[in-house]
Amino acid sequence: MELTRRGFLKASGAGIGVAALAQLGFPTAAFADGEKLRIQQAIETTTVCPFCSVGCSAIVSVMDGKVVGLEGLPDSPINRGTLCSKGQSIFQIANNDMRLEKIRYRAPGATEWKDKTWEDAIPAIARLIKDTRDANFKATEEVNGQQVTVNRTEAIAQLGGAALDNEECYLESKFARSLGLVYIEHQARI
Ligand code: SF4
Repeated sequence: MELTRRGFLKASGAGIGVAALAQLGFPTAAFADGEKLRIQQAIETTTVCPFCSVGCSAIVSVMDGKVVGLEGLPDSPINRGTLCSKGQSIFQIANNDMRLEKIRYRAPGATEWKDKTWEDAIPAIARLIKDTRDANFKATEEVNGQQVTVNRTEAIAQLGGAALDNEECYLESKFARSLGLVYIEHQARI
């Protein structure tokens, strides 16, 4: 069989791609044929990259509980099918043996970490927030010799994450301000 220059480049490019995917832990059988690179048996879903405030969307292909494909979402008006190098790595959040999947808690002064459930954690977090706010709430402050209403606490700070979408961030910041928080920041700005 005569191998043309174009055919050689296509075949070697596919081979290099398969080798690179194998190094990343992808099942390369799905990529063995250059004409069948798309993963036909995977379930596709969409997600938002959590790594910065741009908020690019991606299509994630999942097979047997593992991410086996990731590409930018062409329908997104933000990234139009592209992903930067950080965005290309978000599959490592899911395919990661070191990912914590349980709530871990270490009591003040203790040396041991314990597994907890959300049923344990949510009331405990709410109790700590409420107690801290109440103990440190300042209703008024003297400004230029006059008492003015400030209704704030400086004892709690909130840090948001870029995994939250615009509407979730809106609700989070409204909630924080309703408690009187003034130190509100976002991971994407840091
Ligand atoms: S890290 Fe990259 S892919 Fe992710 S949202 Fe930001 S620009 Fe988009």
